[in-house]
Amino acid sequence: MRRMRPVEDSYRHKGLRKKLVETVRSKGITDERVLKALDSIPRHFFLDSAFDELAYDDRAFPIGEGQTISQPYTVAYQTQLLDTKPFQKVLEIGTGSAYQAVVLAEMGVQVYTIERQKKLFNDNKNFALLKKYPSIKFFYGDGYEGLPTYAPFDRILITAAAPEIPPKLIDQLKAGGMMVIPLGSGEVQQMMRITKLEHGALKEEVFDRFSFVPMLVGKKN
Ligand code: SAH
Repeated sequence: MRRMRPVEDSYRHKGLRKKLVETVRSKGITDERVLKALDSIPRHFFLDSAFDELAYDDRAFPIGEGQTISQPYTVAYQTQLLDTKPFQKVLEIGTGSAYQAVVLAEMGVQVYTIERQKKLFNDNKNFALLKKYPSIKFFYGDGYEGLPTYAPFDRILITAAAPEIPPKLIDQLKAGGMMVIPLGSGEVQQMMRITKLEHGALKEEVFDRFSFVPMLVGKKN
């Protein structure tokens, strides 16, 4: 799918966005910084103009190559769990539409994001909005490998369903750092937060269930 991106952020879009923020808040998101990020990002810019009217529904949408832009509630949920502090280094696995990466950039962190599909990676190269976010670095690669050159990271966010906790990513997490990961190989995954303790042991916390597209091994051309 060749995306025709809208370029105008109208009062109507802004109004729809306020409603979306209230919907996400009513579903239980309490971190005001996360809600503010959602309020400031024109989500319709991330979708084909065919979805202009729907972009502010709290739903996932297709972005081509069988992939989706996550539901805003899910993005907010993962971002809230990640509990970032400004200027931290955050690794995201699964760039997709780059919406989640921009939410993280709005939270004031340095974002390193990896996408395994060349087509989706390339789509983001000529996405004008991203020029406003020099704090995001885009990589084409296999998220299971992480980015050893840029490690260690304060936070790691996985936005695809992981069948297991990727060991190389745990290696690339700072002591005291946290990973948020939808874990499971079936239709439904369990949202987990893994904290790497000072002596290297892992603390695991279990949250709600979600349904993500699978985290696949290797790059796709
Ligand atoms: N964060 C995205 C959601 C993307 S859906 C957004 O905000 O739009 C999950 C994405 O993960 C898909 O684009 C998929 O191609 C990608 N993906 C799956 N396995 C991967 C891997 N091993 N490494 C990097 N990206 C991967």
